[in-house]
Amino acid sequence: MSIAFSSLGSGSKGNGTLVRDNRTEDGAIVLVDCGFTLKETEKRLARLGIAPEQLDAVIVTHEHGDHINGVGPLARKYNVPVHITPGTLRVKKIGQIPQQRIIKHYEPFSIKSLNVTPVAVPHDASEPAQYIIECNNKRLGILTDLGNISPHVEMHYQSCDALVLEANHDPAMLASGAYPLSLKQRVGGAWGHLSNQQAARFLESVDREKLECLVIAHISRQNNTIELAKQAFADVLNPVKQVIYACQDEGFDWVSLTVDINH
Ligand SMILES: [Zn+2]
Ligand SMILES: [Zn+2]
Repeated sequence: MSIAFSSLGSGSKGNGTLVRDNRTEDGAIVLVDCGFTLKETEKRLARLGIAPEQLDAVIVTHEHGDHINGVGPLARKYNVPVHITPGTLRVKKIGQIPQQRIIKHYEPFSIKSLNVTPVAVPHDASEPAQYIIECNNKRLGILTDLGNISPHVEMHYQSCDALVLEANHDPAMLASGAYPLSLKQRVGGAWGHLSNQQAARFLESVDREKLECLVIAHISRQNNTIELAKQAFADVLNPVKQVIYACQDEGFDWVSLTVDINH
């Protein structure tokens, strides 16, 4: 064991990914994003065996409500430090944060034994970041809310041991669905969200020799189905050992990465 992760929920109605160093009882525990009400957050944390008082930090990706709505209330009630870019802080009034930690110029930082690398992504938000979190030689990549895979993203997300990857929509479902045209263009555009096919192509392009666990995340309820996502990824899953489809209501349960014998 070294690093473990789970989810409070994943999708346009709220996101939150827990990451912990599970080698010791008091290992770091962080929450990446909190898009739920305080009450709902407390309930979902409890389901995963975590008390809010145990959180060492909340790390924010960007200001969209499904990622940030619960950050202020959670941070204020439990005095949790919040790591956030200046751009995200500027555009969204999240109120007083007792312990604000500014992420400058996407510089890496640490929370106890967790080493966090922010990565700039193409998304229609103010200075958005996605994250790679490393601990004891294990590497977890979290990559949702981006409209295309930039060379910068591709460079950073190589050789992950686990990857939480957005597969937001099926382009045909999005095109024929009920969204107004402007929203269809936003979601499907270069600064919106990844389609199943974009995500699968990305996975095909990275070094995935070490990839133990792939989580398909931020799946749209209106414009996608798990079946369509499965079809899109079918040819690129080798040699991934475990594939999980994150859901809005349940997120996903704890996944622990195994440590190689020679570490
Ligand atoms: Zn989102
Ligand atoms: Zn977003």
